[in-house]
Amino acid sequence: MKRSFLTVFSFCLLATQTIAQGGRSLASYVNTLQGTNSKHELTRGNTYPTTALPFGMHTWTPQTGRNGDGWKYQYFLNKIRGFQQAHQCSSWSNDYCVFSLMPGTGKLEVNEEKRAVSFSHKNETALPHYYKVTLDNKVTTEMSPTERGAFLRFSFPKGTDGYLVLDGYTGLSSVEIHPKENMITGFVQNGRGVHPDLKSHFVIRFDKPFSSWGTWSAKGDQVFNDSVTKEGRGAGAWVRFKPGTVVQARTVSSYISPEQALLTFEQELGSFTRLEQAKAKAEETWNKHLGRIKMEGGSESDLATFYSCFFRASLFSRQFYEYDEKGEPYYRSPYDGKIHKGYMFTDTGFWDTFRAQFPLNALLYPTMHGRYMQAMLAAKEQCGWLPSWSFPGEAGSMIGNHAISLFTDAWVKGIRTFDPKAALEAYYHEATNKGPWGPANGRHGWKEYFQLGYVPYPEIGEATAKTLEYAYDDFCGYQLAKETGNGFYENIFSRQMYNYKNVYDSSTGFMRGRNAKGEWSANFDPIEWGGPFTEGNAWHWDWSVFHDVNGLIGLLGGDNRFVTKMDSVFSVPNAVKVGSYGGMIHEMTEMVMANMGQYAHGNQPIQHMLYLYNYAGQPWKAQQKAREVMAKLYNATENGYPGDEDQGQTSSWYVLSAMGFYSVCPGTDQYVFGSPLFGKMTLTLENGKQFVINAKGNNASNVYIKEAKLNNQSYTRTYIRHGDIVAGGQLDLEMSAQPQTSRGTSAADRPFSVSLQPQ
Ligand code: CA
Repeated sequence: MKRSFLTVFSFCLLATQTIAQGGRSLASYVNTLQGTNSKHELTRGNTYPTTALPFGMHTWTPQTGRNGDGWKYQYFLNKIRGFQQAHQCSSWSNDYCVFSLMPGTGKLEVNEEKRAVSFSHKNETALPHYYKVTLDNKVTTEMSPTERGAFLRFSFPKGTDGYLVLDGYTGLSSVEIHPKENMITGFVQNGRGVHPDLKSHFVIRFDKPFSSWGTWSAKGDQVFNDSVTKEGRGAGAWVRFKPGTVVQARTVSSYISPEQALLTFEQELGSFTRLEQAKAKAEETWNKHLGRIKMEGGSESDLATFYSCFFRASLFSRQFYEYDEKGEPYYRSPYDGKIHKGYMFTDTGFWDTFRAQFPLNALLYPTMHGRYMQAMLAAKEQCGWLPSWSFPGEAGSMIGNHAISLFTDAWVKGIRTFDPKAALEAYYHEATNKGPWGPANGRHGWKEYFQLGYVPYPEIGEATAKTLEYAYDDFCGYQLAKETGNGFYENIFSRQMYNYKNVYDSSTGFMRGRNAKGEWSANFDPIEWGGPFTEGNAWHWDWSVFHDVNGLIGLLGGDNRFVTKMDSVFSVPNAVKVGSYGGMIHEMTEMVMANMGQYAHGNQPIQHMLYLYNYAGQPWKAQQKAREVMAKLYNATENGYPGDEDQGQTSSWYVLSAMGFYSVCPGTDQYVFGSPLFGKMTLTLENGKQFVINAKGNNASNVYIKEAKLNNQSYTRTYIRHGDIVAGGQLDLEMSAQPQTSRGTSAADRPFSVSLQPQ
């Protein structure tokens, strides 16, 4: 996520194996603390210990950071100040519709600093379905999630007078205490750029009576005894219990109405009387979900990393809909504030997630993904533009118009829930207009791009990165038009999808900034960040031609030169010139720390790059590099990511790579091979079929594919088609410690490039 986000945020069936590995619950492999040891200057994930169900609308987390701070939980801090409802997908984007509960003992402290209590990680359990911490004041908090709420339990030590503070957070909030019903209701309305009508209406039901109660106001930390209602900025509530109480609290929130919150409460929590019930249900849900990809024949630590990443990838697509009395989905639009029927999703930036996170969903959850396609077209109707950075409305952050990548990828993978013509029309509108929000709302520089065939620099910032991504998006437009017999749009976009060539400078062998007169930017240095590039340099952006790697190989001078250039990425010094950023940004520090030359896996532009060896006749190098990156740059600890996790993207890279392949070019039906991490993978698809990869002899040394058979037929291609996976089947690999340099090298074995297709 980019730093300038802070300023540009301006909006608008399966009986799967639930148990594996000697009877151990798969959910128990997940460490939700993965990546939490992060700060502004250096990210190890920028995650928080998310306690949630897959795709859940609200998540819950302990809070170490100040109200309103994007760093809500930092592993190195030792005080918790609340347990909060959260949705944040990046520390750079902050959060919306947050409130928190904090237990205390003795004298009432409402102020978030004063009420904070120290804790130690040894007294903490951080699982997807269950979070527990005993603070140093001996109060224990437990949480188990539902899709739109949580079941919490606070255990106060014997003899102590315990209380709970409800914090209404940073914006407008309203609370109402119902002492006779052991209940608190209200709403919170906070977050930058959120639609003014968007409120989260909460209901919290306790199973023990309050011995006293009142409200408070964050302004001056004023406490009001016996008061039952309060509304205002940061308005909150407090309730006290008899000494030594163990109190359970069930809570849900609705964006639709207080009445819907009560209905959702019944739907999700009505039948539970004990936290253990919610916990067991949540664990079962996660085990089913994680069991969709069953890994065997690997180390316990690799299993922990894999399932922790799979967990993180599975928090998105985040639901933004609720169910009415009849069980029909509906939602309050984060775009127009009105109520609509159907499904809506939010909390993702396509710049990050079109690459692997959405392709992973398309493979595992095509039904949900089909609903996502409908939701994108609904968003277009509601705010006039396709989404690009939803949080929960439209932010337009980062670059590109990648909604079309999602549409085309869904279509080529058989999803037929949407009208492709409507999608193409919406994309055409994106590509020929500039929207009111950030640079990725509509197309920044669209006129120049259309007239010149590239976005000029310095006339337009990050112009070369934009050209590269627009050309890929235009390929997606072309591909969807071609696949659906839409000659009009096929013709338009086919003329633009090779525009990447217009920013390639053969004299330096790099993509470069180029002004409107056609002159290259002066004083070029490939290690200089920013300028014509987004969060990277020319070493990173040279590879952003997902759809025509063959064309890129041609520009770079053929297979050998292309491979030499790729090798150089890893072998040149990991030096940084800060360029237009003016100082080290965390992505630079992360690249330096990774110590893999200019390979900057901590950020998105280069994440697909190592798979490109397959396109130039040296697939064994992709196999080796994929394993090296998995081993070196990921683990299941608080330092477990090489940079920002980014809404499931950096996790999805690992999930797909550990499966043995990667979605280099979404919008095609191919996954390009690396090297699977485990001895056996069993993928259970939504259609009930299974695709198994047996990697015989696989271990940390035997990373090379010596031989492959797909359904008992010799298989030399360096990619596999979506259709071959979803049909079910078996891929048998023979692994080796020596590269098999003649396998998969012929032209016919290479993955998709549009310039090699019949036009
Ligand atoms: Ca990033």
